Amino acid sequence: MSFDETTRLAQQKGFFFKSADSYPNSPAGFVDYGPLGVALRNKFVELWRRLIVKSDGMLEVDGAQILPRGVFEASGHLASFTDPFVRCAKCGSVFRPDKLIEEKAKHPVPEKLGDSDYDAMMEKEGVRCLKCGSKLSGTSRFNMMFKVGIGPGAEEAYLRPETCQSIFVDFPLLFKTQRVKLPVGIAQVGRSFRNEIAPRQSLLRLRELNQAEAEVFFNPAKTDHPRFLWSKEEVLSFKLPDGKDVKLRVEDAIAQGIVPNALAGHYLALLIRFYEAAGLSRDRLRLRVLNDEDRAFYSKAAFDLEVNLSVGWLELVACNYRGDYDLSRHAQVSGTDFQVLDGDQKVLPNVFELSMGVDRSVYSVIESGIRMDGDRRVMGLKPYLAPFAACIFPLVNKDGIDDAAMKLFDELKGSADVYYDDSGSIGRRYARADEVGTPFCVTLDYDTLKDGTVTIRSRDTRAQERIAMDTVEETILSATKFPRP
Ligand SMILES: [Zn+2]
Repeated sequence: MSFDETTRLAQQKGFFFKSADSYPNSPAGFVDYGPLGVALRNKFVELWRRLIVKSDGMLEVDGAQILPRGVFEASGHLASFTDPFVRCAKCGSVFRPDKLIEEKAKHPVPEKLGDSDYDAMMEKEGVRCLKCGSKLSGTSRFNMMFKVGIGPGAEEAYLRPETCQSIFVDFPLLFKTQRVKLPVGIAQVGRSFRNEIAPRQSLLRLRELNQAEAEVFFNPAKTDHPRFLWSKEEVLSFKLPDGKDVKLRVEDAIAQGIVPNALAGHYLALLIRFYEAAGLSRDRLRLRVLNDEDRAFYSKAAFDLEVNLSVGWLELVACNYRGDYDLSRHAQVSGTDFQVLDGDQKVLPNVFELSMGVDRSVYSVIESGIRMDGDRRVMGLKPYLAPFAACIFPLVNKDGIDDAAMKLFDELKGSADVYYDDSGSIGRRYARADEVGTPFCVTLDYDTLKDGTVTIRSRDTRAQERIAMDTVEETILSATKFPRP
């Protein structure tokens, strides 16, 4: 399925759609999740919580979305969270010069170019305004943080552009009060805000986005990992900076210097396992190794976890070996001591970050799940991610079958994610259920009234089975249970 078709289906079925769509000229970069999208996203986040946060013994926090100026002075966002932009002198349209050049030249543009480099490249490639066709020049910088004023005095503050800053700022308090030891991960899922210059692709580039971030704090002198036993055997795909694709056991990737150490290797393997459990196949996932030019200056190593979709390779998680940059900057600007004890040694921990885009991940799960089975369109979501576990149908809306079906639905709705559908033929109802990934359909008929059995039909095999009505709940719940880490 193409990006446009997937997005259209997502809108029709109530997964996600453009925000404030009934207003003309409502800004791009904002989406609303509908009922099915909320359910899918919540379950995706729950899977992340179980397979990454809890399985690794991380702490989860939920920080404020508005943070004071000092935090972003320390983090570097005030000075450098900027994107290049160019304004058409004739019609006033605003563009990202790097994106325009990429589209025209059909090759990626390095991330850290100077403004005049963009002007020169636009000139060379003959880039023109997409609206009026004029020549474009005069690249300048735009800080992508949303500024807010607190109170009548409008004290300077910002909507967070990433969730991780409160994790860094809270680290000394959490380390002390939660009685943890290094290495320790602290995770957070929540909204972030980025005033993107020209967001175009719906869920893939948002101004208000959902992130799930985990920051692993460790003693830089101890980069082994207690759970490295299973992860070192995992075989991962890497895209190296020279363009080569290699498949390597984690242990070998470390020996070859592609992955810095066991700790980083462990989390890369954990992430790949997580996305497999979310329904993305391993042969469509890779870790792109960033070269020096594409990494932030403080980063010692960086990997983008990418998935191959209709739009090409899409980044889902930025994995970044951040050194002690974050904690030392916050210590410096806030005047607080961010060092902690590791045994009897006082250390300023280093950080390995897993910064996940939740919206992109949800999109990827939807697009990768859709398949055609003859002329039947099926969203093959993992049963534990499906917005609904089952749909309850009465064969006909009479003779007490409808009452029995409604009674079963009422009994189940508190414990399982079920919905009720009594319109159209059974075939139509199956088709509607398949399209939104519902793993089971339960039909009540005349036999139900006689012997208390129902037909349960599987989305994936289309097999139908007769089971006792009082086992429906247990059957659905056990088949849609989250996997063990
Ligand atoms: Zn123009």
